Amino acid sequence: MSLPMKILFSQLPSVDSLLRQTEFQALSDRWGHRQLVTLLRQLQQQARQHIQQYQQLPDWCQNWAQHASQRLEQTGTSGLQSVLNLSGTVLHTNLGRALLAEPAVNAVTRVMRSAVTLEYALDDAGRGHRDRALADLLCQLTGAEDACIVNNNAAAVLLMLAALAQGQEVVVSRGELVEIGGAFRIPDVMTQAGCRLREVGTTNRTHLKDYREAVNSDTALLMKVHTSNYQVQGFTKAVSEAELVALGNEYNLPVISDLGSGSLIDLTQYGLPPEPMPQQLIAAGVSLVSFSGDKLLGGPQAGIIIGKKALIARLQQHPLKRALRVDKVALAALEATLQLYLHPEKLAQQLPTLRLLTRTQSDIAHQAQRLLPQLTTALAGLFVVETAECLSQIGSGSLPVERLPSVALTLTPSDGSGSTLLALADRLRAGDVPIIGRIHSGRLWFDLRTLEDDALFIRMMTS
Ligand SMILES: *Cc1c(COP(=O)(O)O)cnc(C)c1O
Repeated sequence: MSLPMKILFSQLPSVDSLLRQTEFQALSDRWGHRQLVTLLRQLQQQARQHIQQYQQLPDWCQNWAQHASQRLEQTGTSGLQSVLNLSGTVLHTNLGRALLAEPAVNAVTRVMRSAVTLEYALDDAGRGHRDRALADLLCQLTGAEDACIVNNNAAAVLLMLAALAQGQEVVVSRGELVEIGGAFRIPDVMTQAGCRLREVGTTNRTHLKDYREAVNSDTALLMKVHTSNYQVQGFTKAVSEAELVALGNEYNLPVISDLGSGSLIDLTQYGLPPEPMPQQLIAAGVSLVSFSGDKLLGGPQAGIIIGKKALIARLQQHPLKRALRVDKVALAALEATLQLYLHPEKLAQQLPTLRLLTRTQSDIAHQAQRLLPQLTTALAGLFVVETAECLSQIGSGSLPVERLPSVALTLTPSDGSGSTLLALADRLRAGDVPIIGRIHSGRLWFDLRTLEDDALFIRMMTS
């Protein structure tokens, strides 16, 4: 080892000597002795590596206490930071999808703080299972006979297949072998559930006779999968649920449908594009329909399965149900969300997802005009702030092709430099409440459809 390096190493303070300093005692009180010692050991290791690489001490060695304090602050803040989602995607999977309605938030805090009648009947009537109360509500809303709630819709599909078709064949159209983000692929789920996928038809066209010819003594289910994140257009043919139900009845085979998002209300009444409704499929005779709790429904992450009583009973009794069940917190949030659907006339106000989706372009344009002067002043000389029409997406694989007319505030760097823009985007992401926008054609775009707290936005933009 060369002499200078040896001298540098000897300049590193020992962990013990650091801990004796009053500044570190304060850190120890705040963050705990063990966490502080772990960090100091890490820092020493990092300093040694730095010396070996650069033959000098890292800058932060001038003030160990300050550096340690910053590092502890960083790890102390939540990994689930609140952000302003101005990305233009309302149900953004990576940002946690639906925002919950206030009654759902209140229900969650209530059940978190107390014991609840999760699987306990006060009237001594003996409650079957934890989904009972929600199942009754879902039956009321959809006309289904019964319901089952699991962790998410991926779990719902897995459970339906495992409980009803293990070791047997499930017939699915080649046009519906969907991949949803995050490794959910229908053929792989089939394998995990222990079923054999029986593909029928072609990518663009599948006929009823294709299903009919595939049915054999090993067939357990006929399955429809909603092509939620893509559309097949042009020379196409798909078999409707009703037609499949008729075929299923002939052979005494249940028809199940993975609806993905689904909507419990008719979205066209708000001028939104139509999305299939679970209750329509139930009315068409589909045996089981599954959909997500945190997509268009606007509730917590959950998988909802509704349909025939006898089949739901088989799901409830399957060992996987125990592994996929949801806790009281999610059930409370889902119950409160579903109760809002009992008053559909108030839904567009009470349910954040629907409230954001139904905002008109002119309403958003007014908001943009209100915010424009403040931002222009705050960023004068650095960025040109303008309003621009844009198109929001619903997201989470709902209505993939449809776009909602909206308005954005756009920021163009006055020096025309891409790095100025990236620096701003970085700065905004580093704030207390990071702002998530979108960089497109040399500008930073903030779609205002999802902005409900103007004051917070201005504060974060100008701090
Ligand atoms: C979104 C989706 C899923 C997965 O639902 P999660 O609730 O995210 O697990 C499965 N199938 C379809 C068709 C979907 O759109």
